Amino acid sequence: MSRKFAAFVATMVALAAIGGWMMASAVAQMDRPHASAATTKPSVSPSGAPTSAPTPSGTPSSTVSTTGKPVPPNPTTSVAAGKKVLFFTFDDGPDPTWTPQVLSTLAKYGAHATFFELGQMQDEHPGLRDQVLAAGNTIGSHSISHPQLTKLGAAQRHHQIFDGPRSTCFRPPYGATNAKVRADIKAAGMVQVLWDVDPRDWARPGTSAIVHNILTHAKSGRIILMHDGGGNRAQTVAALNQVLPILKAQGYTFPAMNCQQR
Ligand SMILES: [Zn+2]
Repeated sequence: MSRKFAAFVATMVALAAIGGWMMASAVAQMDRPHASAATTKPSVSPSGAPTSAPTPSGTPSSTVSTTGKPVPPNPTTSVAAGKKVLFFTFDDGPDPTWTPQVLSTLAKYGAHATFFELGQMQDEHPGLRDQVLAAGNTIGSHSISHPQLTKLGAAQRHHQIFDGPRSTCFRPPYGATNAKVRADIKAAGMVQVLWDVDPRDWARPGTSAIVHNILTHAKSGRIILMHDGGGNRAQTVAALNQVLPILKAQGYTFPAMNCQQR
């Protein structure tokens, strides 16, 4: 083998190794679509028992390892140690067609959830908010009209956060947040809540795809993102009907997050 050829081979081997590493990284990223959400949401990471010791099963390890920081206790998702829980959340409602269907599905399996509602939708459908609460669920704010808060000026951002649905929990639309958004949420007396599992029900990938995504990523303490507004949610309701009995049989319970009405 000539030295030139040997150098060429060595280069190709190195490139192949780098290529393989990049592929592996890309796959790892794809396999963990919520890693970025987890790193930006220390305040929503499930906290531990009332003693504030971390629940062994309650904290996704990626949250801790990717930030490298301890996860502060989160009052919204406190659960008793040793309990298997999943936090279902429904965004963009209340919607007169889909919210009642989600409510009756939850009730069928003794499940509760947290609804991140839009002020605009609450105003258009005033009775639904009370129905959600009367069934033992909780309500968080998802702003007034679903803008990307990171693109707004201070006055508009302030208005969307301070004058939306009254709650101690706030989920920014699209999960788009930054230091200014977080500061406003805090100043308004709220806690930012993102999610751990996004089964992409909003994109209507098919009921079985939503079901598979949820069952694959279910782990105690995780927050699951779904939608009861913003479009046709027939797949969301159908998927919920399928996953709840399966997860219940696995020992999970489904509490609402601790979001108080301000
Ligand atoms: Zn939304």
